[in-house]
Amino acid sequence: MTSANRVTLKPGDTIGILGGGQLGRMLALAAARLGLKTQVFSPDPDSPAFDVVQNATCAEYADVEALELFASDVSVISYEFENIPSSTAMILSARRPVLPDPKVLETTQDRLAEKDFVTKLGIATARYADVSSAQGLKVAIEKIGLPAVLKTRRFGYDGKGQAVVREGDDPDKVWADLETRSAILEAFVPFEREVSVVAARSASGEVVCYDVTENEHRDHILKFSHAPARISDELAAQARTIAEKIAAALDYVGVFAVEMFVVPGKDGPSLMVNEIAPRVHNSGHWTLDGASVSQFEQHIRAIAGWPLAHPVRHGDVTMTNLIGDDILDYGKWLGVPGATVHIYGKGAPRPGRKMGHVTEVKRR
Ligand code: AMP
Repeated sequence: MTSANRVTLKPGDTIGILGGGQLGRMLALAAARLGLKTQVFSPDPDSPAFDVVQNATCAEYADVEALELFASDVSVISYEFENIPSSTAMILSARRPVLPDPKVLETTQDRLAEKDFVTKLGIATARYADVSSAQGLKVAIEKIGLPAVLKTRRFGYDGKGQAVVREGDDPDKVWADLETRSAILEAFVPFEREVSVVAARSASGEVVCYDVTENEHRDHILKFSHAPARISDELAAQARTIAEKIAAALDYVGVFAVEMFVVPGKDGPSLMVNEIAPRVHNSGHWTLDGASVSQFEQHIRAIAGWPLAHPVRHGDVTMTNLIGDDILDYGKWLGVPGATVHIYGKGAPRPGRKMGHVTEVKRR
């Protein structure tokens, strides 16, 4: 029996969440609605999730004593970001079920391992090559061609830790500027749109996908999500099949997202997987107001061992991220008919910082 099959929470039980950002905050709010308590573990005293939870542990991820106490307070543990140190996950999973299983992180924390995993499943990705030196970058450019995107293998997000390499760029300088020892070079994908599948998988292997979402980025950061994506039903079905295949191969429990490129071709558009997020995802925030059950509640249900919902979408939904100073317009958004405003309760609005979001639903 896996640790996932052992978990069936009842109202009043406590879920432990690693990470105290807006995702942890929205998970805690969803849990509360189902009568479940949450305890958040985060090293940052200003964690926005701390404002809404019953109990908070403010400690470093390497603090073994704090981790042990945290584990003893909760029935099951999950996480809201993928860069949990593997030693932290090991200490916790020796004491309580951790869902999704931390072995998932070995694949999703490392872009090379992730691309190898997806490729082995027979799913298309951008062509890629492993790079660990300036000389290695030159060899990879020969193989992949230009333009291409150089990405650090670990700890990249919102366009951080990546650089587009173009004809005429100096590979030595590009490599030095990335300040890493291990990276991958990916062929630049001339996509017509970006989409994602946000889905949940239960311990018994059931997968429920939300409608495929179309995502628009500004400066590498998600700005708008639209549900449903403007793609054919056939392509949407293919996207869901890809997500199901990935989740089954990872024996995943909880909500995850698969980001994909829609690539034009002479036989019609096709899909390439860009990234797997082993957690609730920004492109699923529309589900809070645009679906009968949100991705946050769905994740809580999955890790609690409760039945997954089969969410109904309320209409055509647009989610707008409030990034940096956008949050200063919250008063304007509060007056927009039909808009639902979410403010994450973070401190200063730094450029690129996700401060809140707005959902607008057009009823059908
Ligand atoms: P990532 O951190 O891999 O999710 O990349 C962030 C964004 O950069 C993506 O959402 C795309 O808009 C863009 N991007 C990433 N990889 C590629 C690629 N191989 N070709 C073209 N654009 C890319």
